[in-house]
Amino acid sequence: MRLSGRVALVTGGSRGIGRAIVEALAREGAKVAFVYRSNKDAADQLVADLATDQREAIALQADVANTEEVDKVVTEVLEKWERIDILVNNAGITRDGLLATMEPDNWHSVIETNLTSVYNFCHAVMRPMMSQRSGRIINMSSVSAEFGNQGQVNYAASKGGVQGLTRCLATEIGRRGITVNAIAPGFIVTDMTEAIRNAAESEIKKKVPLRRLGQPDDIAHAVTFLASDEASYITGQVLTIDGGMTLGG
Ligand code: NDP
Repeated sequence: MRLSGRVALVTGGSRGIGRAIVEALAREGAKVAFVYRSNKDAADQLVADLATDQREAIALQADVANTEEVDKVVTEVLEKWERIDILVNNAGITRDGLLATMEPDNWHSVIETNLTSVYNFCHAVMRPMMSQRSGRIINMSSVSAEFGNQGQVNYAASKGGVQGLTRCLATEIGRRGITVNAIAPGFIVTDMTEAIRNAAESEIKKKVPLRRLGQPDDIAHAVTFLASDEASYITGQVLTIDGGMTLGG
C-alpha cells in the first residue's frame, strides 16, 4: 500500500471520476475525506462500502466555490486527522452553450466551480502543507483546455485556468516539498458525458486511437501515482489521459 498513513482530501468524490479516485486512494492505504455537493445518499454509500473493506473515509457536504465552506472542510479534516498530505481538486461542472447566447450565470457558475474552487482549496491547505514540508496537489483539467470545442468557452477557460494555476503554484511551493500537477482527461464514462455518449458514442470512439472511451479508473490510477513517492520529482506538469484522442490521425 503506497499511501499508508497519508491523509487525502478529494473534491467531487460522490460520483464519477472523483469516486474512483477516493476508492483508489483508500485502496492504497490513505485515509480519505471527500466533498460532495448534493448527492448525500451516494456519498454515504461510498463511506459505508469503504468501511466494509476496512478503509477509512468521511464525506463532507460543501460547495467548492464557497470560500467559507471550503475553509470549514479543511479545518474539519485537520481536526480529525491533523494533516493533509494529498489534495485532489476534482469537482467540476459543464454548462455548455454558444457564447452569443450564454447567460452570465452559466459563465460564472462554471468558472467558480471549476477554477475558483481550486484556488479555495489550495489556499486553505497551504499552511498545513507548508509546515509539514510535504504535499501533493492534483488538479483536474481537461483536454477541452486546448481543444477549441464549440459551446465550451466557459468550461475551456476554467480548465485552461487550472493548468496555469498548476504551473505557477508549482514554482511557488516546490521548495517546501510540495508538488502540484494537473490531469487532462479526454472522454471518460461518467454522468457528465452521458448525453453526448448517447448521441455520438461510436463517432467519438473513432477519434480515439485506442478505440474505447476512458473509464474513471484510468484517471484514478494516474492520481495514485502522482500522489505517491514514486512521483516525487514531477511537478508543474499536465498529464493528458485520452487514449490518444488529441493526437489527431
Ligand atoms: P460528474 O458530473 O460525474 O461528478 C461531478 C462531481 O463533482 C460530483 O461528485 C459532484 O457532487 C461534484 N460537484 C459538482 N459541483 C460541485 C460543487 N459546487 N461543490 C461540491 N461538489 C461539486 O463529473 P466527472 O466525474 O465526469 O468529472 C470530474 C472532473 O473531471 C471534473 O472536473 C470534470 O470537469 C473533469 N473532466 C471530466 C471528463 C469526462 O469525460 N467525464 C473529461 C475531462 C475532464 P454531487 O454528486 O453531490 O452532485
